[in-house]
Amino acid sequence: MSDQDAFFAGLDVGGTTIKSIIVDDRGETVGDMVEVRSLVKDGYEATFGQLELAMTELAKSAGIEVSQIRGIGLDVPAPSSDGVIWGKANLAEDWVGRDIRDRFSARAGVPVYMTNDGNAAALGEYAMRRKHIGSLLFVAPGTGLGGGLVLPGGRAYEGENGLALEVGHITVPFREDDGDLPECSCGLRGCVEAWVSLVALRRRVQFEIGKEEWAEHPLTTEDAPIEEKAFQLRDYASEGDPLATKIFEQQGMILGYALADLVRVFDPGLVVIGGGLAEASFRDKYMDWILEGFDSRAWSVYRRSPLDADKITTRFEWATGGDSAAALGMAFTAREMFR
Ligand SMILES: [Zn+2]
Repeated sequence: MSDQDAFFAGLDVGGTTIKSIIVDDRGETVGDMVEVRSLVKDGYEATFGQLELAMTELAKSAGIEVSQIRGIGLDVPAPSSDGVIWGKANLAEDWVGRDIRDRFSARAGVPVYMTNDGNAAALGEYAMRRKHIGSLLFVAPGTGLGGGLVLPGGRAYEGENGLALEVGHITVPFREDDGDLPECSCGLRGCVEAWVSLVALRRRVQFEIGKEEWAEHPLTTEDAPIEEKAFQLRDYASEGDPLATKIFEQQGMILGYALADLVRVFDPGLVVIGGGLAEASFRDKYMDWILEGFDSRAWSVYRRSPLDADKITTRFEWATGGDSAAALGMAFTAREMFR
């Protein structure tokens, strides 16, 4: 039965901002996305204040009372289990080991579902594809390489400890030109995140511009910090620059290798690629590189049915939710759980 007085909030807590969305009982968004500062470095109490501010603004934008919000989905940029955060990531110290979900639920007076940002974005991409009812594997190259898995029916698979789908730290069969395995942010060597992330991009640019063949390239000759050069790489790739193309082609192929392993384990109906590349002008080429890497490592049955040659078994798509996907995923999940 539809309850026209019931609304559900999705709150996506990032390192700098909180993005928030409200949906009604039918799952339709109402009003605009609201963005406020997250203040995560000031501790969880300061962030709770900002979450309440976001809810007030959301209610105003939707033309409802805050008391009509019946449930909340909350995602945080850190691994968590049962509402308790495991590691501080870019949060303040006092977030760790506390039951953030219960504390916020007690303050808000409504039930709260809490998960990490990778799961939230995966749930958002699932929510946006209402015709897709199978499983959805999500990966997002960004500062690191995040991911999430949504099971048929629309729940995220979080694992026993909330540590499932740490996709960035599976290893890939690829080495540097000198035979070395690159070091990952987690301390291990050879993780896919050490190849497919912003940090990896900086390392690759530094490595390539040291070569004789790129001695005349503007990225070699210009005097700029490596962060800036890595940032420019996307523009160069858009113009078909050979150095930028080489670096992104390698990155796409290696992401394809990792996806081959993940698909072999989960056999999802849909793979969604998020992160900034989803908006890059050369993304069609990038998807070809991903599929080239994937096809070289995965059995063909994971792409085409042996029983029906016209049937695509696992589809690959770009993310469509942009930076509002996680907030939408949380609002959608709150509605599923608490209505
Ligand atoms: Zn790692």
